[in-house]
Amino acid sequence: MIDQVVILLGPPGSGKGTQATRLSAELGVPHVATGDMFRTQMEEGTDLGQRAGRYMDSGRLVPDELVTEMLFVRVDGEDCVEGYVLDGFPRNLSQAESLDQGLEGRWSSSVASLEVPDEVLVERIAGRLLCREDSNHIYHASFSPPKVEGVCDECGGELYRREDDNPEVVAERLYVYREQTAAVITHYAQDGRLEPVDGNQGPDEVYRALRSAVEGSDVEEGG
Ligand code: AMP
Repeated sequence: MIDQVVILLGPPGSGKGTQATRLSAELGVPHVATGDMFRTQMEEGTDLGQRAGRYMDSGRLVPDELVTEMLFVRVDGEDCVEGYVLDGFPRNLSQAESLDQGLEGRWSSSVASLEVPDEVLVERIAGRLLCREDSNHIYHASFSPPKVEGVCDECGGELYRREDDNPEVVAERLYVYREQTAAVITHYAQDGRLEPVDGNQGPDEVYRALRSAVEGSDVEEGG
């Protein structure tokens, strides 16, 4: 039981998805990823998915009013009563302020930021493969390839590349990150909550660093 929200920040390709999946499994709380939620909506062809898709395909942020409500409905769910790991939210200052208000008085939170140089991000994104059956199953064509090409080791699902992982859209996503999401890092740094984590290491080393950053913010050992 953690009764705490872990906010995981970092640019596209920094390993947020991989690390959040592992942390949430260990802590026994849900991994709440706004990007995954939108991709599910897109696959299901919902109105929200279609509206969000226009922004996602070009690497821009989906407007706050579409994101924030979806997020708050999700974390209001029964399975989030003991905490959750947030991945991909907040992405700008206004979302950070909405989150602060939503958490105030009820939740403590810890904020970790994965730091990775741009050239490494580009390399990681260029080879990234996701499983259609479970977005938590993530591979890399060179660094952590599946045993059988195109097939998820864990569940046999088909592996695919994200539409927005192509080089032009990646350039826009990195630009958006610097223009809008970097302010979120400053926001948490200013109120003393930010725990920087060196994300330019192997996944196990990053996880160890993340775990101790989060423990330093009062998450109980062993979850
Ligand atoms: P991600 O899977 O976190 O890389 O997100 C993929 C895309 O979904 C982003 O490039 C945005 O277009 C959209 N998205 C995800 N989370 C947010 C958010 N909190 N605010 C705005 N757009 C978002």
